[in-house]
Amino acid sequence: MAKLSNSIGKNINFFQPELKLKITISLQLLDKIKLKVIRHFPNEFGGIFVGYYDAFCKTAYITDIATQKYFFNTKISFQRFTKDINKKLNSLYQQTGGKIIYLGEWHSHPNGICSFSQTDFIAMQKIVKNKNVKIDLPLLLIYGGTKKELHYKFYVFCKDRLYQFIRN
Ligand SMILES: [Zn+2]
Repeated sequence: MAKLSNSIGKNINFFQPELKLKITISLQLLDKIKLKVIRHFPNEFGGIFVGYYDAFCKTAYITDIATQKYFFNTKISFQRFTKDINKKLNSLYQQTGGKIIYLGEWHSHPNGICSFSQTDFIAMQKIVKNKNVKIDLPLLLIYGGTKKELHYKFYVFCKDRLYQFIRN
């Protein structure tokens, strides 16, 4: 069994009232993302979430993040090459007997807002249509704001819409 990183430290929960969906993530993991976002400022940066949904598909447990070795980023764009990330996902899937899977995306909007852009929306549409991705409800986290004051918002893509979560 792979070690689940959210077994240590404090967890934070988010709730989506219309879909009655929950997200559980550790503070430690959110900080880890924040540090990566700051490190790449003022350029965009991003990665993926891994974890699992409960049996009823009502709570997403984010257990870790993964980032890619190769990417291309500017102040307003972020593109990555997914070969190494796919390898990581495959080995996690094998190691955990199919429990730990891809859960979604995170990226930053340096000096911007944490709302999703049209490009972000289209990217999420492509993810659910991708036959290689084993997920119906992919998550999206966007970090916005300044280097000194960062904010984030969680979304989930469901039935061709992005729904925002609130802190629980
Ligand atoms: Zn974006």
